[in-house]
Amino acid sequence: MEKDIDRVLLSSEQINERVAELAREISAWYGENEVVIIPVLEGGAMFSKALSQLVNMPHAICPIKLSSYQGARSTKTVKLLEELSISLAGRDVLIVEDIVDTGYTLNFLQSYLRSRGVASLRTCVLLDKVSAREVHVDINYTGFIIPDEFVVGFGLDYRQRYRELPFVGILKREIYDSRST
Ligand code: 5GP
Repeated sequence: MEKDIDRVLLSSEQINERVAELAREISAWYGENEVVIIPVLEGGAMFSKALSQLVNMPHAICPIKLSSYQGARSTKTVKLLEELSISLAGRDVLIVEDIVDTGYTLNFLQSYLRSRGVASLRTCVLLDKVSAREVHVDINYTGFIIPDEFVVGFGLDYRQRYRELPFVGILKREIYDSRST
């Protein structure tokens, strides 16, 4: 498994430390307000679990499933795979996403959630590939800015593998270049 990693970009210690900092910032912002945390599955599940265990404000967790990536490439067509099970009208909503790359996924999700009449919408991403951005997205909390490389670990996969790695690493190019997608 680790032999497939070219280089560790963020160690598990660095990630845990940063998640704790983000949790403090987020808790300070919301105070006692109840928040709906929306983890973007599957990639955002590990990050949002770590974050939600550390934040102090009362919160509900309502994951959302979108599809936009095929193999190691972003697609511009984002789809909602399942409708949300609760009403968001008048609620304070926090999106928790693993990574923002071109921005198409978050851009779609932010418009979708705004159309549901939320009282406020904030976004927290663990990783931001700023240099790969193609459309604007509003981000309130960023864990790390990273280079435009295909990364795995801490929830991020390649063909459903590597999610469980406790660190974030750059996947060896030959692993995904040898595949058709
Ligand atoms: P965007 O729509 O911003 O291009 O892409 C966002 C989605 O693409 C993320 O939710 C994530 O699923 C996937 N993604 C983007 N970059 C990477 C990457 O480097 N590694 C992995 N595993 N997924 C990525």
